[in-house]
Amino acid sequence: MTDVGAPILFGLCTDVNSSYLRGPADGPPKIREALRCDASNHWTETGVDLGVPGIYEDAGDQEIRERDAVAVIETKVGELLQRRNRPLLLGGDHSITFPILKALAQRHSDLTIVHFDAHPDLYDEFEGNRLSHACPFARIMESGLAKRLVQVGIRTINRHQREQANKFGVEVIEARSLPAYDRLKCSGPVYISFDLDVLDPAFAPGVSHREPGGMSVREAIAHLHAIEGAIVGADLVEYNPVQDISGLTATVAAKILKEMLGTMITV
Ligand code: MN
Ligand code: MN
Repeated sequence: MTDVGAPILFGLCTDVNSSYLRGPADGPPKIREALRCDASNHWTETGVDLGVPGIYEDAGDQEIRERDAVAVIETKVGELLQRRNRPLLLGGDHSITFPILKALAQRHSDLTIVHFDAHPDLYDEFEGNRLSHACPFARIMESGLAKRLVQVGIRTINRHQREQANKFGVEVIEARSLPAYDRLKCSGPVYISFDLDVLDPAFAPGVSHREPGGMSVREAIAHLHAIEGAIVGADLVEYNPVQDISGLTATVAAKILKEMLGTMITV
């Protein structure tokens, strides 16, 4: 079954599973503020007017303090899905994607995940934490929650994570191999997970793990627009206001969010 309801924003304010810096818990309200800033209008580049009432919904934010919030997040996302909405979750750190997928996989057995990130996030465990933001895609793949995982923009893969990618059959598109538009033509339901550190820190300094050599905003939007398939959900994670400069990354996050919404609404 493909849900075709309006996209719904929901913020998951958590950074307790971050490994290096804290800060992403304060991200969602700042991304919303940038989204609604009068410096720009409500139109996406693909011609969708996000100012039309009801074209997308907003369920607000939820603060999460505990490390193991898998059941809490899974239940909340399940509620959004019951309303036939397509959830677009604002992080928060990347640990939220595992429980989100646990909820989504109950409705979609053949999901393709398109994952934008500098990092594969495939560690079996990181610093003793299997729910770390460095681990969500290991949990997702070992639980059989997705048919395909396509990673875009990777530039930090090490031996362990290469082995994990091979074990799970992950399609890794490294930053040095971009562009890769043709590899984003998917069949069946698609989930987009967008870690802002896929962008070069010159464009998006407001992340916990700045990794040079990343995508420009233009390249990231071009790859988002190239995704084919029915988008049933998405997340935008790892905005860290503590690391931001003059709100620049919040503006970039809001731009990516707009184009994600536009892509969800036109397909
Ligand atoms: Mn990540
Ligand atoms: Mn990352």
